[in-house]
Amino acid sequence: MANNVYALVTGASRGIGRAVAERLAKDGYTVIINYHSNTAAAERTKESIEAAGGKAELLPFDVSNGRAVEEALTSWDAAHEGEHISVLVNNAGIRRDGLLVFMGEEDWHDVMRTTTEGFYYITHHVLGGMLRARKGRIVSIASISGVSGLPGQTNYSAAKAALIGATKALGKEVAARKVTVNAVAPGFITTDMTAELDETELKKTIPAGRFGQPEEVAALVSFLCSDEAGYITGQVINISGGMG
Ligand code: NAP
Repeated sequence: MANNVYALVTGASRGIGRAVAERLAKDGYTVIINYHSNTAAAERTKESIEAAGGKAELLPFDVSNGRAVEEALTSWDAAHEGEHISVLVNNAGIRRDGLLVFMGEEDWHDVMRTTTEGFYYITHHVLGGMLRARKGRIVSIASISGVSGLPGQTNYSAAKAALIGATKALGKEVAARKVTVNAVAPGFITTDMTAELDETELKKTIPAGRFGQPEEVAALVSFLCSDEAGYITGQVINISGGMG
């Protein structure tokens, strides 16, 4: 890509977001690395992109805080006059597992806010630029948990199912303007989020017999962001080794 074409990846300091950021940078995008608080990890993502010859910028903000999102994206717009964000990957997410009967209000709301309000605040801000350009890609990282429901994750399953609903609705709203909106639904992927899980036991429930790697999710996101994927919208694609 001759000029900068910008891709914003939320939660790109670690895990799946980092792999997506690295992959999109290889695809030629200038990647805007969002993260919440782990500046050292975000800087490592940026350094690895630059070491591979790519371009990246850091843009920390809490995706669940509407004011913080607005301030960060408005100052990005001001510093990049005439530019817009062409690709948005809504990846930032948290889990606070527990049986619903014991689940505190905070664990319900924190998970819902990060996923669903994060989707709203960021997508709402960047969508105008995509619609005006008559081109754009929005990919959200949902989960098999939001497709099938997982016990111990009613908050997380609800939040990811909401993300899937939003993806399907928005996909229909903006298809005529050549903006595609899709979700990917990973199963178990090796990241900090799954580090405490009993992989040996869980592998038995996965037809492929293993956890997935962040780079495998990144390859799917890369395809959905490509020109070749222009006729795919409003879809949820499982990447789960056959689970779900
Ligand atoms: P991870 O390793 O725990 O990384 C989470 C990333 O999200 C970090 O970059 C973190 O930033 C960022 N983040 C968290 N809360 C944020 C907030 N409020 N504002 C901005 N950034 C925030 O997670 P992961 O496993 O890569 O998961 C990435 C996405 O995939 C999540 O949406 C997750 O639900 C989904 N997913 C994961 C799996 C899996 O098995 N790993 C399966 C299905 C779906 P800091 O570094 O600053 O904390």
